[in-house]
Amino acid sequence: MTWDVSFTCDICGKKKGEANHWWMVILGDVPCFEEGQPSLRFTLLPWNAGESRNSEMYHLCGQGCAMKAMERFMTTGTIETNDGMEHEIHAGSMR
Ligand SMILES: [Zn+2]
Repeated sequence: MTWDVSFTCDICGKKKGEANHWWMVILGDVPCFEEGQPSLRFTLLPWNAGESRNSEMYHLCGQGCAMKAMERFMTTGTIETNDGMEHEIHAGSMR
């Protein structure tokens, strides 16, 4: 089977290989009941070849990046970074 579509992880930029356990995330609308509530939901789903071409789908190379994506979503409300760089923001240590 030839597969000429190559996917890269939307978090770390890794290219998809055959044996990787990839995941997908899609952000969807939620009804806003209260003002100030998040207006998006974060849906994590197992890799699916058919859905993977959906342009609204984020591709994640594994659990680590899925967690990062969720963290990013919870912090900024989006998964995409502004500059593509990883920034560790230490706003006071929690220890
Ligand atoms: Zn990744």
